[in-house]
Amino acid sequence: MNTDTLRVKTKKNGHALKSFSFDEIGDDHLFTSLETPMRPDAFKLSDAEKKERIALLFEEIMEVMGLDLTDDSLKGTPKRVAKMYIDEIFSGLNPQNKPKVALFDNKYQYNQMLVEKNISFYSNCEHHFVPIIGKAHVAYISSGKVIGLSKLNRIVQYYAKRPQVQERLTNQIANELKQILDTEDIAIIIDAKHLCVSSRGIKDDTSATVTSYYGGVFNKPEKIAELQNYLNN
Ligand SMILES: [Zn+2]
Repeated sequence: MNTDTLRVKTKKNGHALKSFSFDEIGDDHLFTSLETPMRPDAFKLSDAEKKERIALLFEEIMEVMGLDLTDDSLKGTPKRVAKMYIDEIFSGLNPQNKPKVALFDNKYQYNQMLVEKNISFYSNCEHHFVPIIGKAHVAYISSGKVIGLSKLNRIVQYYAKRPQVQERLTNQIANELKQILDTEDIAIIIDAKHLCVSSRGIKDDTSATVTSYYGGVFNKPEKIAELQNYLNN
């Protein structure tokens, strides 16, 4: 996997993390793998079974916190959370939900960069399970095939709907597009706010995190400048 073009100021691999405790890894938003860490038996339970289990477990969390689950307002919450986890905000964990992508021949012979900017997304930090809210900018240069513009958006949404770290999200989108479009010439920039940073912990409301991936010709300073020019207009 091409990690050297992932430009982030974070420890990049498991080895670098050996000297950190699990608490430190989570609190500092370090991460251990560019793949979403999942168990081999992740899909032994059906979605319906998962929702049933999560509802029970979430009910227990609420109970432990002393909430009165006989209250009409709280009664439905465990089931609602379970449904939201599986069908919506973490639906990108299940490869069956990956967007089906049709490619078209590049019949206009458009051979410059295509930029789809300001793709809004909502994700969740895997260390705190609170939202990451941001915008992704995706660019590619066709190697002969083109992709429907809405699919670029859908691929971003699919990977955002997982417990995430921003660096991994950036790379997962890049890798997916590299494979689909059969080119290294992909650029991804993600600019996001982490609610675990703004609403808790250090409580910094103004900072944002920017990550980028520049593959192939996008590694050249003039291409990065051209892309930045599109993004600023
Ligand atoms: Zn967090």
